[in-house]
Amino acid sequence: MEFNKAQNIIGIKVLSDNVIWLWEKDKSVVVIDPSVHEPVLKYIDENNLYLKAILQTHHHSDHIGGTKYLIEKWPNVKVIASSKDKKRIPFQNISVEDGEILNILGEEVKIIEVLGHTSTHIAFFLNGKNPILFIGDTLFSGGCGRIFEGTYQQMYSSLERIKSLPKNTLIYCAHEYTKANLLWALNLKPEDQNIKNKLLHVEKKLSFNELTIPFLLDEEMKINLFLRAKNLEEFAFLRANKDLWV
Ligand code: ZN
Ligand code: FE
Repeated sequence: MEFNKAQNIIGIKVLSDNVIWLWEKDKSVVVIDPSVHEPVLKYIDENNLYLKAILQTHHHSDHIGGTKYLIEKWPNVKVIASSKDKKRIPFQNISVEDGEILNILGEEVKIIEVLGHTSTHIAFFLNGKNPILFIGDTLFSGGCGRIFEGTYQQMYSSLERIKSLPKNTLIYCAHEYTKANLLWALNLKPEDQNIKNKLLHVEKKLSFNELTIPFLLDEEMKINLFLRAKNLEEFAFLRANKDLWV
């Protein structure tokens, strides 16, 4: 288990490469995409926290797998998910739509629909002085989510939405894929100094057993080929190329 303390958000690395985020405030905690439950319950217990809410970005089992066990232990917990996914995220008790604004832990949290990876994927955006985005599997550092249910156009539009957020937005994605993504990017752009520097930085972090996420939108736009794509055609080429990369 690894922890990464940035502000009041802690990442727990689980399974092979998933990261569960726990956002704490005044002894309350909100969990984002709990793939499993044991390390979450352990952390809550050890730190004497109260589980207020679970935020679900999409229906994949490596994001909702721990939720039913967390509900068993915390029956009053709010489970917030897309209203379009009531069947596949059946335990949701707050169903949300694009543009909706919720109050969570005293912060305004805006729902941003980011389709492509799945046909119902949402993100959670905290628009404070230091904006924060919980993006699930839509964007990774150096990469983006595979298009399983949506279209290239949907994923491209979702990335455009992300790019329109404040440049100092700190982005929390759900997988530690950064190094593999950068190796793929360098294969396509071997002379790119920004990507080379990022890889060095990432390798150093990994050697200390640290997470390479969250990441800043501003910096990500310099090293992420999907965010740098100038149009849908270029994006589609990159996505198809990455799908074939092992
Ligand atoms: Zn997924
Ligand atoms: Fe996932």
